[in-house]
Amino acid sequence: MTAEVLRSRLPARITIVEVAPRDGLQAENRILATEAKLHLLDRLADAGHTVIEATSFVSPEAVPQLADADELMRRLLPRQGVRYPVLVPNEKGLERALACGVREIAIFASASESYSRKNLNRSRDEVTLTHRAVVRRAKDEGLRVRGYLSMVIADPWDGPTPTTVAVDAGRRLLDLGCDELSLGDTIGVGTAGEISTLLGGYRGAGVPVERIGMHLHDTYGQALANALVAMTEGVMVFDASAGGIGGSPFAKMAGGNLATDDLLWMCRGLGIATGVDIETLAGTSRWLGEQLGRDLPAHVSRALAMSPEGPPPTGRRPS
Ligand code: MG
Repeated sequence: MTAEVLRSRLPARITIVEVAPRDGLQAENRILATEAKLHLLDRLADAGHTVIEATSFVSPEAVPQLADADELMRRLLPRQGVRYPVLVPNEKGLERALACGVREIAIFASASESYSRKNLNRSRDEVTLTHRAVVRRAKDEGLRVRGYLSMVIADPWDGPTPTTVAVDAGRRLLDLGCDELSLGDTIGVGTAGEISTLLGGYRGAGVPVERIGMHLHDTYGQALANALVAMTEGVMVFDASAGGIGGSPFAKMAGGNLATDDLLWMCRGLGIATGVDIETLAGTSRWLGEQLGRDLPAHVSRALAMSPEGPPPTGRRPS
């Protein structure tokens, strides 16, 4: 395949949903102060992000890192052109979010039964009942709703997730009224062919690819390859976290999220617009690593830091 043929199969532009402040931080042991989180949100917006998942209105006991969700959202100043969705687990969480002026939420389901029970303490059917009430109320309030579907490739307890099961579970979220579906390879085991098969399943079920985003994890080093193949299948929305932080507090084998840093490098090399400045984002990742007291998994921010004269002349948009 020539470079021209490859490029012709890729989108001209993608949207990155930056998930470090929620999905990323919830897996971290060191709890950041609200002030530091507000600074992180500012820096991510400064880098050019237009969708930043800010926090989660789960119970403070379940995820102590995000116990300050109410204060954070009250103190977060609106910025022109930036959306700040939050995760909402149930009606109580939705009411808290609404009280803070939130305009966009995400709900969370599992394609597999075991993860549903371990992560959400309920069967998939019981979760759907909760979601029905949450989405109805959110829509009445005019909110945008995103549906996360985890374990779309495999589950550590149930094994491989059949494509039909993953597609049916995703369609259930869309039928409830979700505007967008984020398909999660939560434990990062999937490879390019499986991602392609999954997206083919959705296409076959008549789901427009414009309503699908990918949420990839890098446990087995496949996140970027999987993102690329998803792009060739028409996907234009990708969840990623600055520095590649993340995991799952409920599935210990899950590695970090696809790193925004690494995704930006690939996109720049391929001439895919993201609107996010790679140098600013890489600086933010390094700052975040200092705040968390550890080296973060992203490759690109580390490589750029070791390149004193600026980035080498690859990964640049072809002229
Ligand atoms: Mg994740």
